[in-house]
Amino acid sequence: MTTPRVNLLDHTLAELEEFYAGLEEPAFRARQTWKWMHQHGVSDFSEMTNLSKKLRQYLTDHCTIEAPEIVLEQPSEDGTRKWLLRLADQQCIEMVFIPERERGTLCVSSQVGCALDCTFCSTARQGFNRNLSLAEIIGQVWLANNQLRKSKDDIRPVTNVVMMGMGEPMANYNNVVNAMRIMLDDNAYGMSRRRVTLSTSGIVPAMYRLADDIEVALAVSLHAPNDELRNQLVPINKKYPIADLLDACRNYLKGKSQRERITFEYVMLAGVNDSLAQADELAALLEGLPCKVNLIPFNIFPGTKYTCSSRNAIFRFRDRMMSLGVNTIMRKTRGDDIDAACGQLAGQVNDRSRRELRFAKLEMEATL
Ligand code: SAH
Repeated sequence: MTTPRVNLLDHTLAELEEFYAGLEEPAFRARQTWKWMHQHGVSDFSEMTNLSKKLRQYLTDHCTIEAPEIVLEQPSEDGTRKWLLRLADQQCIEMVFIPERERGTLCVSSQVGCALDCTFCSTARQGFNRNLSLAEIIGQVWLANNQLRKSKDDIRPVTNVVMMGMGEPMANYNNVVNAMRIMLDDNAYGMSRRRVTLSTSGIVPAMYRLADDIEVALAVSLHAPNDELRNQLVPINKKYPIADLLDACRNYLKGKSQRERITFEYVMLAGVNDSLAQADELAALLEGLPCKVNLIPFNIFPGTKYTCSSRNAIFRFRDRMMSLGVNTIMRKTRGDDIDAACGQLAGQVNDRSRRELRFAKLEMEATL
């Protein structure tokens, strides 16, 4: 029986140093390997020219640098790109790259499916399958950078990451935090802590833990101005109601710079949460909390009972919030034509009943 190869992407720096200690290699060799892997996107050990020949040979024989595999790349008219990725166990996830003038944002998945059952989210439809490993999370950043470097268009690589793909990042806490540490690490991706955002539906105990463990930007999926409505839209609210959630937000900002803000995401659902009275209620709720509110046009998907608020309703809501002193913006929808917008990721592929069929179609498209 052959032992499986050790995937170096699945290691924190400390773990890699420990692995190297077992090979009687000094810690600085682990850091050199780390830089080749994360800064230069190298996966062929023979290219790691400052390592000894012996070590390179050992790594070639026993190790691998293996990110998820690209099944399909879909470019959108607006420059957004969506990649469908296959994991070793054949499950699929998606990641989305959104280029803007000043930055390039990668939307990263943390789980296959999601257990939280938010009623307006298409990922929720497929149920929860499993957590992604560290290699599968940081591998998305590794892969996107490599793909973007290869591309002929003059596109900047990933400068920002939002943990807003499939899944609830707080429910895969250790792997997500370890992956974000690698994103921030100067010897790896070197992103500033304001450029890495974790988005949560409000797993309150994990928000306290996060405040102690790592400094990144925090976004909270609020979506409703009171518990009664939030219980319906984001059912985890029954366990962690709004008052507790906002306490956890205040705690997160404690001791941080005055410039720090929590971002509240608020999906605009026609006739459900978009009235002026609800804007008033929301503004009152957030009073005194350093924050900004991001209004997200609802992205429709097959079978949903919701529709998106009209542009007018969204602007009215925003203006009311602004007049009440809450910094509120409307999030631009990107990648609409390729189903890359918020809450639409990979539902179709992982829906078990349609998976085979859908795969056949995708493979076909990929070869065209
Ligand atoms: N589980 C995390 C990350 C989810 S995705 C969270 O809940 O924050 C990021 C954002 O997209 C969340 O605010 C989510 O509520 C929102 N979203 C989900 N489905 C949507 C849809 N169909 N249209 C618009 N936004 C959606």
